[in-house]
Amino acid sequence: MIQIDGSLGEGGGQVLRTALALALVTTQPFRLEKIRAGRAKPGLLRQHLTAVQAAARIGAARVEGAVLGSTSLFFEPGAIRPGNYHFDIGTAGSTTLVLQTILPPLLVAGGPSRLTLVGGTHNGLAPPFDFLARTFLPLLNRLGPTVTATLERPGFFPAGGGRLTAEIQPALRLSPLRLVERGAWRQPWARVLIAGLPLHVAERECQVLRQRLGWPEECCRIEVLNPAWGPGNIVLVGLEFEQVTEVFSAVGERGVKAEAVAEQAAAAALAYLAGGAPVGEHLADQLLLPLALAGTGSFQTGPLSSHFTTNVETIRRFLPVAVRTEATGAGQVLVSAGPGA
Ligand code: ATP
Repeated sequence: MIQIDGSLGEGGGQVLRTALALALVTTQPFRLEKIRAGRAKPGLLRQHLTAVQAAARIGAARVEGAVLGSTSLFFEPGAIRPGNYHFDIGTAGSTTLVLQTILPPLLVAGGPSRLTLVGGTHNGLAPPFDFLARTFLPLLNRLGPTVTATLERPGFFPAGGGRLTAEIQPALRLSPLRLVERGAWRQPWARVLIAGLPLHVAERECQVLRQRLGWPEECCRIEVLNPAWGPGNIVLVGLEFEQVTEVFSAVGERGVKAEAVAEQAAAAALAYLAGGAPVGEHLADQLLLPLALAGTGSFQTGPLSSHFTTNVETIRRFLPVAVRTEATGAGQVLVSAGPGA
């Protein structure tokens, strides 16, 4: 049985999500200890517990340790059962991270699935819905499956209550991914979502974005959402190229000035533009799993994060795929997958 130490690397939730996803795909059981040992509140939080429960339902798994706060989990998967599922995190925990857990097995399942996930859709330290829909899924669909996601209602921390649905048409085999250039520049856009907060917050954010990015007025759109869904605020910056769309974001927080929130998203977008590689930091750790499942392929990215190296290590426990990284100059790294031990 596969034994995993959850304090690996940054010791966060991704070790758990990757292990669940790959246990289902490969039908290998695992035992995970020291879950999220690197975090201030270790163990399973609602988001992680929902991911475990969702994986268990979809994969008819036998599970031990699936309780809030648990720092140890045993997971023995059965067969993947595609279908219609509804999972409610019950807090503002990230729905996109729960989806990250159950999407890989459903991509290669024997039939289509429809998922409804309830919780947060625009969280800090997690992919916002717009990153999922505009950055991640279009690339995933290039591997063969057809996955579409719809935002039915945004959900912010701490209120939650957001709802996303995903339709998954699997592929029998995943095709290799090759993403080494951005391709021709298409268009930039910026959106500021605001719910239950004063409009001047969004206006100040747009002003900073325009100044820092040097974009014309019409590139930044303010979307005033139902105040009952708030308080909530996120700044989204989209950079669309022929081969990839990257979405950079920053979530407004109590005690953090609007200018600082916009500055964070602008700085991430500017660093990406200066770097030249098609795959940004967050996309890199998330693309690893589909790349490894396809078994072959490559992408060009910038400096590697600890999430990236931890994910490589977790994937290695389940799949006979070697992930290689090669510095290609100017701070860029070519990531490639191929047959391995
Ligand atoms: P914890 O570590 O507290 O358990 P967690 O379960 O939320 O937190 P992490 O292990 O830190 O998760 O993983 C977070 C994931 O969210 C990573 O895949 C990372 O790439 C992704 N992510 C974080 N911020 C963004 C962002 N702004 N845009 C896109 N993806 C993001």
